Amino acid sequence: MKIIVQKFGGTSVSTLEKRKNVIEKIKNSIEKGYKPVVVVSAMGRIGEPYATDTLLSLISEETKKNNKQATDLLMSCGEVISTCVMCSELNSYNIKSVPLTGGQGGIITDNNSGDAEVKELRPNRIFKYLEEGYVPVIAGFQGVSNEGIITTLGRGGSDTSAALIGKALKAEKIEIYTDVDGIMTADPRIVGNASLIEEISYAEVFQFADQGAKVIHPRAVEIAMESGIPLIIKNTVTDCEGTIINSLGCSKNKKLITGITHMKDRVQVTIKGDDNKGNDRYENILDIMAENYISIDLINVFTTEVIFTIGTEDLDKFINIMEKSQIKYIMIKKCSKIAIIGNKIRGVPGVMARIIRALKNENIQVLQTSDSHTTIWCLVRESETVKAINTLHKEFQMYK
Ligand code: ASP
Ligand code: MG
Repeated sequence: MKIIVQKFGGTSVSTLEKRKNVIEKIKNSIEKGYKPVVVVSAMGRIGEPYATDTLLSLISEETKKNNKQATDLLMSCGEVISTCVMCSELNSYNIKSVPLTGGQGGIITDNNSGDAEVKELRPNRIFKYLEEGYVPVIAGFQGVSNEGIITTLGRGGSDTSAALIGKALKAEKIEIYTDVDGIMTADPRIVGNASLIEEISYAEVFQFADQGAKVIHPRAVEIAMESGIPLIIKNTVTDCEGTIINSLGCSKNKKLITGITHMKDRVQVTIKGDDNKGNDRYENILDIMAENYISIDLINVFTTEVIFTIGTEDLDKFINIMEKSQIKYIMIKKCSKIAIIGNKIRGVPGVMARIIRALKNENIQVLQTSDSHTTIWCLVRESETVKAINTLHKEFQMYK
C-alpha cells in the first residue's frame, strides 16, 4: 500500500473556500495511486470560533494554570471539530472518509497534559480503514493516555502527529500544507529576490531556527529524520512544488549555500583577564552564567579573554551579576547573529574566506565568527544586518 500523510494547518482549513483546496490536494494524491491519511489542525487563528486560542479564551487563567487536564480537553475540541467538518465536505465530493480523534488514531501518550509525550502509536485502526477504502481524517495535536485522559502534544503539535503517523504507517512521504510556498533562501522581507529552497536536509532545517520553526515544528523534523521519511512543505492554495526535507538535502542543484537566516537582539560581551586580575570569579564566568540561567552562545575562550553573546532580554540581569561579582567587561549591544547554512560547506576550503571578503568589501565589520559542519555564523552590528544578508545572498548566488 502506497501511503501518503497529508497534514493541513489551521489557516488551510479555516474557510470553506480553502477547504476546497484541501480536497483538491487529497483528490490529487488518490489519483496518483496513494492512500492518503489526513491530519488536521483546529480551524483558523484566534478570533475565529474554533481556533485553539479562541477555545482557550473561554476558560480562566487559573484553570489554564491549575487544571491542565480540563485545558487539554477543551483544546482538543478544535481539532475534533476540524476532522468532522473535513469529513462532511469530503463526503459531498464522494470521497469516503472517517473522522478519528488522536486516541482513536492510536496515539498513546503519557499523562503530561499540555506537553504530552507520545509513548506508542497503534496504527491498526488506521490500517483497517485504509483497507476498507476510507480516507482517515485524524485530529492532530492530541492523544490519549493509557488511563483514558485526553492530552495535547504542545502548541504546534499537529505537525508532530503527522510525522508520528507517517512513521508508524511507513508512509512514502509526509506533506505539511500551510500558507507559504515553503522555506526560503532568506527572509523575503530582507532579501527582495530570495528564492524557494527546493530541497533541504533535516539537519539544515534545524539551523533555520525562526523561519524553519514557523513552517514546521522541529519535533516533526526529528521524527521524520529518525525514519528517513521525506517531509514536504507545501502551500494549500498554490501548485508550487514546495520544499522537500530529506537526508541529503539539495541534490538537484549544486549550490554551496542553502540559505541564510539571522537572530537579532544579541549582545557581545568581552571579559579580559588583564582587567580582572586577582578576581577569581573571572575564572568561573561560564559557571556564573549557567547558575543564573543566562544562555550564552558564540563562546570563545582564550588564555587572555573570554568572549560570548547573550540575548538582550538577559542584559539587565547580566549587568547586575557583573556588578555584584565585580567583573569588568566590554560589550557591544544590538548585534545580529547571521547563520549561513549549507550541507555542502563541510570540507570545502575557502568558504569562510569568501564570506569575510564579501562583507569586508561592503565595509561590514565582522565582530565574531563560529562554524559547524553545516553552518557558519557571523556576528555583525544589527544596523548592518540587512546589508550583510543581501551581500552574502548575492555572493553565493542564491537568488532565483
Ligand atoms: N491547533 C494547535 C495549535 O494551535 C496545534 C497545531 O495547530 O499544530 O497549537
Ligand atoms: Mg503549525
